[in-house]
Amino acid sequence: MKTLTYSKNIFLPVTDLCRNRCGYCSFRKELKDAHLISRSRALLLLEQGFHAGCSEALFTMGESPWTVSGFESILAKAGVADLMDYLVELCELALEFGLLPHSNAGLLEQEDLRRLQPYNASMGLMLETTALLDAHAKSPGKRPDMRLQYMAMAGRQRIPFTTGILVGIGESRQDRVEALSKIAHLHRAFGHIQEVIIQPLDPKPGTAMENARLPGMMDLCRTVEAARRILPPDVAIQVPPNLVDPRPMLAAGATDLGGISSVTVDGINPDRPWPNEVELHKSLSDYNLRERLPVYPRFIAMGWHGHETRSLVDSLAGEDGLRAKKYIF
Ligand code: SF4
Repeated sequence: MKTLTYSKNIFLPVTDLCRNRCGYCSFRKELKDAHLISRSRALLLLEQGFHAGCSEALFTMGESPWTVSGFESILAKAGVADLMDYLVELCELALEFGLLPHSNAGLLEQEDLRRLQPYNASMGLMLETTALLDAHAKSPGKRPDMRLQYMAMAGRQRIPFTTGILVGIGESRQDRVEALSKIAHLHRAFGHIQEVIIQPLDPKPGTAMENARLPGMMDLCRTVEAARRILPPDVAIQVPPNLVDPRPMLAAGATDLGGISSVTVDGINPDRPWPNEVELHKSLSDYNLRERLPVYPRFIAMGWHGHETRSLVDSLAGEDGLRAKKYIF
């Protein structure tokens, strides 16, 4: 029986202010509508996550919001002096509630990555594409070279890392192959890529790409097959079960369903509900479906997860590095 993994998480949007304007994004808000998650809201979600048996606190935010004029007033209103200090504080809170932080905070300086590393079981950044696309014409942070450099920096720091590509944002098949090849190259150099998400575009009303065509299943399966061919075998291929029927993509080589949640919605695709965990086990009963932590077993064995996360990882992981059986549904 093929083993298939997923993690149980909560989604914590630290801030939805972002310097970029990606053509498909409905997460980003203008300054007047932007928010910073409050401590009380974070506490409530963490508490709910703990009671729901989650193991992952997924912290995400718009990229470099501090470069957007007016962000200081949002911080001041929340009584926060420095966003990175605040993110570290939230990661510490998550650990207190028994949830392992995984932060995807966009492109960061090396110093900030160093500050976050000890408190994170793993971290992430979507490469999305290596092509120069209209979808990213107003997104200075989506320059592929900058994102690849950032991922290399994370590799040098030995951070277990999640990345992925977006399918259907105007890229060609060859562009997808190139992006996957660059990720494979990074992994061969640093050994830090734990999973690659094959994420289909889900067009949102009110965005520049609202009328874009959804990528077809055939295209998605071909992309998964290409990923399996190009990526080293120890890199998992993840597909989101709230956006696509995972079955054909599992048959094509995908091995992971990513984070699902009974507490929070998918903050990037709030109109796409997560499958219920019980239903997922029923519908995929021909797979050995296992819950994992936000850090993959081999990185636990190598001790690459942040040192502040180690005792919690030890208490949540079973002998095989996946979530201990006593916690499994
Ligand atoms: S970087 Fe992320 S949050 Fe910012 S506009 Fe692009 S998709 Fe949205």
